[in-house]
Amino acid sequence: MNIILLGAPGSGKGTQAKQLQAELGLTHISSGALFRENLNHKTELGLLAQAYMHRGEFVPDEITLAIVRERLQRPDVDKGVIFDGFPRSLAQAEALTEMMADLGRRIDGVLYIEVSDEALVDRLAGRLICRECQAPFHRIYQPFQTCPYHKCAGEYLHQRDDDQPETVRARLETFHAQTAPLIDTYRQAQLLIAVPGEGSVDEVKRATLEAAQDLNH
Ligand code: AMP
Repeated sequence: MNIILLGAPGSGKGTQAKQLQAELGLTHISSGALFRENLNHKTELGLLAQAYMHRGEFVPDEITLAIVRERLQRPDVDKGVIFDGFPRSLAQAEALTEMMADLGRRIDGVLYIEVSDEALVDRLAGRLICRECQAPFHRIYQPFQTCPYHKCAGEYLHQRDDDQPETVRARLETFHAQTAPLIDTYRQAQLLIAVPGEGSVDEVKRATLEAAQDLNH
Protein backbone atom coordinates (compact mmCIF):
# COMPACT_ATOMS: atom_id res chain seq x y z
CA MET A 1 0.00 0.00 0.00
CA ASN A 2 1.29 3.46 -0.93
CA ILE A 3 -0.27 6.46 0.78
CA ILE A 4 0.14 10.21 0.56
CA LEU A 5 -0.41 12.24 3.74
CA LEU A 6 -1.65 15.64 2.67
CA GLY A 7 -1.99 18.57 5.03
CA ALA A 8 -0.69 22.02 5.85
CA PRO A 9 2.54 22.54 7.81
CA GLY A 10 1.74 21.66 11.43
CA SER A 11 -1.28 19.51 10.58
CA GLY A 12 0.41 16.51 12.20
CA LYS A 13 1.55 14.64 9.09
CA GLY A 14 4.89 13.70 10.66
CA THR A 15 3.28 12.37 13.85
CA GLN A 16 0.67 10.39 11.91
CA ALA A 17 3.23 9.05 9.47
CA LYS A 18 5.30 7.69 12.36
CA GLN A 19 2.32 5.76 13.72
CA LEU A 20 1.31 4.40 10.29
CA GLN A 21 4.90 3.30 9.86
CA ALA A 22 4.79 1.48 13.21
CA GLU A 23 1.28 0.02 12.82
CA LEU A 24 1.26 -0.90 9.14
CA GLY A 25 4.97 -1.48 8.51
CA LEU A 26 5.13 1.14 5.77
CA THR A 27 8.24 3.17 4.97
CA HIS A 28 7.96 6.85 5.85
CA ILE A 29 9.34 9.23 3.24
CA SER A 30 9.34 12.87 4.30
CA SER A 31 10.83 15.26 1.75
CA GLY A 32 11.37 17.88 4.48
CA ALA A 33 13.23 15.35 6.66
CA LEU A 34 15.37 14.32 3.67
CA PHE A 35 16.31 17.97 3.16
CA ARG A 36 17.06 18.49 6.87
CA GLU A 37 19.22 15.34 6.96
CA ASN A 38 21.15 16.60 3.95
CA LEU A 39 21.56 19.95 5.64
CA ASN A 40 22.80 18.34 8.88
CA HIS A 41 25.42 16.54 6.82
CA LYS A 42 26.16 19.70 4.82
CA THR A 43 25.72 17.92 1.49
CA GLU A 44 25.61 20.00 -1.68
CA LEU A 45 21.92 19.25 -2.03
CA GLY A 46 21.18 20.26 1.55
CA LEU A 47 23.07 23.53 1.13
CA LEU A 48 21.21 24.23 -2.11
CA ALA A 49 17.86 23.68 -0.35
CA GLN A 50 18.75 25.67 2.78
CA ALA A 51 17.93 29.20 1.60
CA TYR A 52 14.52 28.18 0.25
CA MET A 53 13.65 26.32 3.44
CA HIS A 54 14.75 29.25 5.55
CA ARG A 55 12.36 31.58 3.68
CA GLY A 56 9.52 29.04 3.88
CA GLU A 57 9.52 28.66 0.10
CA PHE A 58 9.41 25.51 -1.96
CA VAL A 59 12.73 24.01 -2.89
CA PRO A 60 12.79 23.95 -6.74
CA ASP A 61 11.28 20.83 -8.29
CA GLU A 62 14.52 19.81 -9.94
CA ILE A 63 16.14 19.33 -6.51
CA THR A 64 13.02 17.96 -4.78
CA LEU A 65 12.27 15.38 -7.45
CA ALA A 66 15.91 14.28 -7.47
CA ILE A 67 15.89 13.66 -3.73
CA VAL A 68 12.60 11.71 -3.85
CA ARG A 69 13.65 9.72 -6.92
CA GLU A 70 16.86 8.73 -5.17
CA ARG A 71 14.95 7.73 -2.01
CA LEU A 72 12.62 5.51 -4.04
CA GLN A 73 15.62 3.45 -5.21
CA ARG A 74 16.17 2.00 -1.74
CA PRO A 75 14.83 -1.52 -1.07
CA ASP A 76 12.68 -0.60 1.96
CA VAL A 77 10.23 1.01 -0.49
CA ASP A 78 9.01 -2.49 -1.38
CA LYS A 79 7.05 -2.60 1.92
CA GLY A 80 4.86 0.29 0.75
CA VAL A 81 5.35 3.96 1.37
CA ILE A 82 3.82 6.89 3.25
CA PHE A 83 4.69 10.15 1.52
CA ASP A 84 4.77 13.09 3.92
CA GLY A 85 5.24 16.62 2.54
CA PHE A 86 5.44 15.35 -1.02
CA PRO A 87 3.80 16.02 -3.45
CA ARG A 88 3.16 19.68 -2.68
CA SER A 89 2.00 20.89 -6.10
CA LEU A 90 0.19 19.57 -9.16
CA ALA A 91 3.48 19.29 -11.05
CA GLN A 92 5.00 17.21 -8.23
CA ALA A 93 1.88 15.02 -8.11
CA GLU A 94 2.22 14.29 -11.82
CA ALA A 95 5.92 13.54 -11.40
CA LEU A 96 5.12 11.17 -8.52
CA THR A 97 2.54 9.28 -10.60
CA GLU A 98 5.24 8.74 -13.22
CA MET A 99 7.92 7.73 -10.72
CA MET A 100 5.55 5.21 -9.16
CA ALA A 101 4.55 3.84 -12.58
CA ASP A 102 8.24 3.33 -13.39
CA LEU A 103 8.44 1.19 -10.24
CA GLY A 104 5.28 -0.72 -11.24
CA ARG A 105 3.36 0.89 -8.40
CA ARG A 106 0.60 3.39 -7.81
CA ILE A 107 -0.82 5.60 -5.08
CA ASP A 108 -3.63 3.73 -3.31
CA GLY A 109 -4.99 6.65 -1.33
CA VAL A 110 -4.49 10.14 0.02
CA LEU A 111 -5.27 11.00 3.63
CA TYR A 112 -5.96 14.70 4.01
CA ILE A 113 -5.51 15.89 7.60
CA GLU A 114 -7.79 18.90 7.99
CA VAL A 115 -6.76 21.63 10.46
CA SER A 116 -7.77 25.32 10.52
CA ASP A 117 -5.11 28.01 10.02
CA GLU A 118 -5.54 29.34 13.60
CA ALA A 119 -4.80 25.91 15.07
CA LEU A 120 -1.81 25.50 12.73
CA VAL A 121 -0.17 28.74 13.85
CA ASP A 122 -0.66 27.77 17.48
CA ARG A 123 0.79 24.30 16.96
CA LEU A 124 3.82 25.42 14.97
CA ALA A 125 4.74 28.03 17.59
CA GLY A 126 5.14 25.23 20.17
CA ARG A 127 6.54 22.52 17.93
CA LEU A 128 9.89 20.96 18.77
CA ILE A 129 11.72 18.37 16.72
CA CYS A 130 14.66 16.11 17.40
CA ARG A 131 17.71 17.21 15.43
CA GLU A 132 18.97 13.63 15.27
CA CYS A 133 15.94 11.48 14.40
CA GLN A 134 13.49 14.22 13.32
CA ALA A 135 10.69 12.96 15.57
CA PRO A 136 8.15 15.75 16.17
CA PHE A 137 6.94 16.86 19.62
CA HIS A 138 5.09 19.87 21.06
CA ARG A 139 5.89 21.90 24.17
CA ILE A 140 2.30 21.54 25.45
CA TYR A 141 0.34 19.00 23.39
CA GLN A 142 2.95 16.29 23.01
CA PRO A 143 5.86 16.75 25.41
CA PHE A 144 8.89 14.52 24.96
CA GLN A 145 8.55 11.26 26.88
CA THR A 146 10.55 8.66 25.02
CA CYS A 147 12.42 8.66 21.76
CA PRO A 148 10.49 6.56 19.21
CA TYR A 149 13.87 5.20 18.04
CA HIS A 150 15.29 4.68 21.54
CA LYS A 151 18.29 6.80 20.62
CA CYS A 152 18.21 9.83 22.88
CA ALA A 153 16.73 11.43 25.97
CA GLY A 154 15.36 14.56 24.38
CA GLU A 155 18.68 16.41 24.38
CA TYR A 156 18.43 17.21 20.66
CA LEU A 157 15.00 18.84 20.78
CA HIS A 158 14.90 22.28 19.21
CA GLN A 159 12.58 24.64 17.36
CA ARG A 160 12.99 24.50 13.59
CA ASP A 161 14.22 27.77 12.01
CA ASP A 162 11.26 27.73 9.68
CA ASP A 163 8.77 27.47 12.56
CA GLN A 164 9.36 31.15 13.44
CA PRO A 165 6.06 33.11 13.03
CA GLU A 166 7.19 35.10 9.92
CA THR A 167 8.18 31.96 8.06
CA VAL A 168 5.09 30.08 9.22
CA ARG A 169 2.88 32.71 7.57
CA ALA A 170 4.78 32.33 4.30
CA ARG A 171 4.51 28.54 4.48
CA LEU A 172 0.75 28.66 5.06
CA GLU A 173 0.28 31.02 2.11
CA THR A 174 2.28 28.69 -0.08
CA PHE A 175 0.20 25.75 1.12
CA HIS A 176 -3.06 27.45 0.16
CA ALA A 177 -1.76 28.61 -3.21
CA GLN A 178 0.13 25.53 -4.35
CA THR A 179 -0.77 22.45 -2.34
CA ALA A 180 -4.48 22.90 -1.58
CA PRO A 181 -5.45 22.35 -5.26
CA LEU A 182 -4.27 18.75 -4.81
CA ILE A 183 -7.21 18.16 -2.46
CA ASP A 184 -9.69 18.52 -5.32
CA THR A 185 -7.50 16.64 -7.76
CA TYR A 186 -7.26 13.59 -5.52
CA ARG A 187 -10.92 13.88 -4.52
CA GLN A 188 -11.93 13.76 -8.18
CA ALA A 189 -9.70 10.75 -8.65
CA GLN A 190 -11.62 9.15 -5.73
CA LEU A 191 -8.42 8.67 -3.80
CA LEU A 192 -8.99 11.20 -1.01
CA ILE A 193 -10.15 10.52 2.53
CA ALA A 194 -10.43 13.60 4.79
CA VAL A 195 -9.40 13.05 8.42
CA PRO A 196 -10.44 15.65 11.05
CA GLY A 197 -7.10 16.80 12.48
CA GLU A 198 -8.04 19.00 15.42
CA GLY A 199 -8.87 16.46 18.12
CA SER A 200 -6.40 15.12 20.66
CA VAL A 201 -3.31 13.35 19.34
CA ASP A 202 -4.96 10.00 20.18
CA GLU A 203 -8.23 10.87 18.44
CA VAL A 204 -6.43 11.96 15.29
CA LYS A 205 -4.25 8.85 15.43
CA ARG A 206 -7.31 6.62 15.64
CA ALA A 207 -9.06 8.41 12.76
CA THR A 208 -5.92 8.28 10.58
CA LEU A 209 -5.36 4.60 11.23
CA GLU A 210 -9.01 3.77 10.47
CA ALA A 211 -8.82 5.73 7.21
CA ALA A 212 -5.60 3.93 6.21
CA GLN A 213 -7.15 0.56 7.02
CA ASP A 214 -10.21 1.47 4.89
CA LEU A 215 -7.86 2.02 1.97
CA ASN A 216 -6.45 -1.43 2.48
CA HIS A 217 -9.86 -3.11 1.97
P1 AMP B 1 8.34 20.07 5.91
O1 AMP B 1 9.21 19.34 6.88
O2 AMP B 1 7.51 19.10 5.09
O3 AMP B 1 7.49 21.13 6.55
O4 AMP B 1 9.32 20.80 4.87
C1 AMP B 1 10.23 21.80 5.29
C2 AMP B 1 10.66 22.65 4.11
O5 AMP B 1 11.35 21.81 3.16
C3 AMP B 1 9.53 23.28 3.31
O6 AMP B 1 9.07 24.49 3.88
C4 AMP B 1 10.21 23.49 1.95
O7 AMP B 1 11.11 24.57 1.99
C5 AMP B 1 11.04 22.20 1.84
N1 AMP B 1 10.24 21.11 1.20
C6 AMP B 1 9.83 19.95 1.77
N2 AMP B 1 9.14 19.19 0.92
C7 AMP B 1 9.07 19.90 -0.23
C8 AMP B 1 8.45 19.68 -1.50
N3 AMP B 1 7.72 18.56 -1.73
N4 AMP B 1 8.61 20.62 -2.46
C9 AMP B 1 9.33 21.73 -2.24
N5 AMP B 1 9.90 22.03 -1.07
C10 AMP B 1 9.79 21.12 -0.07
